[in-house]
Order: sequence, then structure tokens, then C-alpha cells
Amino acid sequence: MEKKESRPLPHELERMPPKERQKHLEERMREIIAYAYEKAPAVKERFDTAGVKPGDIRTVKDLEKIPMVRKDDLIALQKADPPFGGYLAVPMDSLERIYQSPGPIYDPQRKRGFGTGGGMGPDFGKGQIVMNTWSYHVTPAGLGVDQLLRSMGFTVFPSGTGNTELQVQIMHDLKVNGFVGTPSFLKIIIDKAEDMGFDFKKDFNLKWAMVSGEMGGEPLRKIFQEKYNIFCMGGDNYATADVGTVATGCDKQSGMHVSMDAVVEIVDPATGEQLGPGEEGEVVVTPFDEVYPLIRFGTGDVSMMVDEPCGCGRTTPRLTKILGRTGEAVRVRGMFVHPKQTDEVIARFPEILRYQLVVTRPQNRDDMVLMVELAGKHLEPIRLGTEKAQVSLPVEREKLMNALDKTFRDICKVKFDRVEFVERGSIPENAKHVVDKRKY
Ligand SMILES: [Zn+2]
Repeated sequence: MEKKESRPLPHELERMPPKERQKHLEERMREIIAYAYEKAPAVKERFDTAGVKPGDIRTVKDLEKIPMVRKDDLIALQKADPPFGGYLAVPMDSLERIYQSPGPIYDPQRKRGFGTGGGMGPDFGKGQIVMNTWSYHVTPAGLGVDQLLRSMGFTVFPSGTGNTELQVQIMHDLKVNGFVGTPSFLKIIIDKAEDMGFDFKKDFNLKWAMVSGEMGGEPLRKIFQEKYNIFCMGGDNYATADVGTVATGCDKQSGMHVSMDAVVEIVDPATGEQLGPGEEGEVVVTPFDEVYPLIRFGTGDVSMMVDEPCGCGRTTPRLTKILGRTGEAVRVRGMFVHPKQTDEVIARFPEILRYQLVVTRPQNRDDMVLMVELAGKHLEPIRLGTEKAQVSLPVEREKLMNALDKTFRDICKVKFDRVEFVERGSIPENAKHVVDKRKY
């Protein structure tokens, strides 16, 4: 692809009025689609099968015409046509590296890598030593982040995973300024340092951390910032082995700004239709990548887009956070309910032994029932004759229902229809926590 001289840089795009930015993004989108159709046989085949021509795709909205490609599709395509399933758009011998990610899926090293640091420039990290604890072999994370950090001027210590004691020693001896990796690994390092007799805050020089790759890292982030004075840069970052960086957090820690090197959509995973801001759906990515142009890659991750302006000055939409995976989540009245969320609800009620959330669809309306098995003898369901005493519930139970209702709405952002107390042993011990029994 020829590079247009007038093309704005990523950090310029991020601060543009949305309409103007859209124009530039759609221009690049049309280019990558035309290019991919010509160079990647799998893209051509997918388009032809769907009866879509590259010229039909003018706007982001038009992307809906193209069927999504998912991890499972890629695994099958790669099996049938190894190693890249017909998505490689450059000669094989021009590749610098090949990676493998779980699946297994083979990933060629991409041109866009893990981004360019949002246009922060080569002097941004001058004079600072960073420990990169992502794995340096097999998967792209370690080398990808390494390249990104070096492009921003940092000096990198490629420590990779494991060897905690050694990592502590290095962090101490080199007076390392920054840490990159998972929040839980940073916590392990700090704990180890304290076990070894160090006072982490006094004896170490760690000023910042760029932690990501785990859900529920917020409590640890709080500990790093409040207890150890380690600034957690940019909140979260979201990248996948298949498409690289999707969204990057900023200092305002108010979500992750979508990459300017890709089109990011939120869609209904069942239909592929785009959803608006504030609606939960699957993250679908079309990276502007000339090496491996996956067009409309369905990540299987559930998130939501917000488009209010951010205090950092960027005008780009943000992904709130990754709420779960589409496979386990159930979409009810426009919102995803994920077992991770329902577990969080139930964890607050020690009087509940087991539960199951069941979604059905009588009369074309979603119906969501929380089945609950209570712990403790005094809360056994009461029977009056053959009828369960649904109307004359003891006070505790009504209290419990109200508390469940409130907590459920707080965490899942949607309301269940009712609670059903079931007898002990009704819900099998390893039953799924969220079940979709709807038939359309
Ligand atoms: Zn921001």
C-alpha cells in the first residue's frame, strides 16, 4: 500500500473532531479491504461466498455485510491451509518472526506490532529502565511490548516470566523504574522482595507499572498506588495475539481508547450487527495490517463503548473494560449477564448454598429466574400442602429477595424477574451458573 503524505499521525487522529477522524479511518479501512481482497486468498473467498465486493464497503456501517471471522474459524482454516489459513498477504520469506498462541493458532509478526506508543516519540522514556515480564517466546507478547517500549526510548530488561527471586534482585540492582506485565506477577515480586527482607518502598526505585492481561486487576492497582506509590500507567491495555493492540488506557483511567490503527466495532455476537454506545456486545477488530489482514475478527470478548469526551484530551471512543467472553455470557434485554458477575452477586450472600440463573423466552419475552438453594436448616423451603409457600414467605426470605434484586441490578445492570427458592439438592453441584434455555 502506498503511504499518503498527508495522512495524520495516530496522536493527531486521537484529538480530531469525531466526524473528521471517521473520514480518515474509513479511507484507510477501504484501502486495507481492497488490499486484503487482492492479496489474501482467504479474504477473497469469504467475500465471494458472501457475495460482497470490496467496493461495497464504503463506511464502517457497511462492515456488517462481511461475515465475522472467529478464533475457531481461524483454527479450522489454518488446519486446512497451513500455516496461516490463507490470510497471509505477504510472501512467506519476508516474515521476521512467527508465533503460536493457544488454539493452536500461528501468528505471523505483524507490521503494526503492538503499536507505536500513541505518538509519544522516541524520547519519551529516555533514561528509564523497564522490566518487561511478558513471555519472550512462543507468543507475541514479550517481543511485541519490547519493541513498543524501545520505540518510546526506554531501556528494556527482558526478564520474561518466572524466576521471582532473580527478578527481585535485578529490579533492585538496576534501580528499575518501570514494570510491565500482569498485576498479579508484580504483587508476587513485591511479596518476594519483602520475604527476602527488603522494604519495597524504600529499597526499590519502582515508580510506575503498566499492568494488564487479567480481569479484576483493580484491587491490586489500588494497592500498588496507595501502599507502594507505584503509578499505574494508562489503566488497562487490551491486546490479543491475533490482532495486536485493540485499545489503550490513558492517565484518566476511565476506560481504554480504541486503536487508531484499526476499526473497532461492538456487535451482537449472534447477528454481527453493530451496537451503539452504552450497549454490551462482542469486540470485533479490523486491523490496518498489511501482513495479516484479518477483516472483522471477532475476539469473543464482551465490552461496551463510551463516546463522551475524555479528560486526557483524546476524542476517541473508549472500551469500558472487558466484561467476559461471549460463549459463557447470556444477552438478556440488551445486556450481557456473565457467570463472573452472577458469582460476584451470590458471593455476598453466605446464606445461599447454590444457585442457577435460568433464561427462557415465553411469549417472545426474555424471562430470567434466579434459582436459589439456601444453606442452613432454618431456611429450607416451606411447603403448604402441595403448593410452595411463595406468597407467605418468612421475612428473612423477602429481605433476601430484595437484597438480591438490588445487588443483581447493581452488578449486572439488568433486572431478574423473580427468585425461586428450590429444595436442597435440586441444583447439581457443578451445574452451570448461567443457563440460556431460550428457543427462537
Ligand atoms: Zn483518555
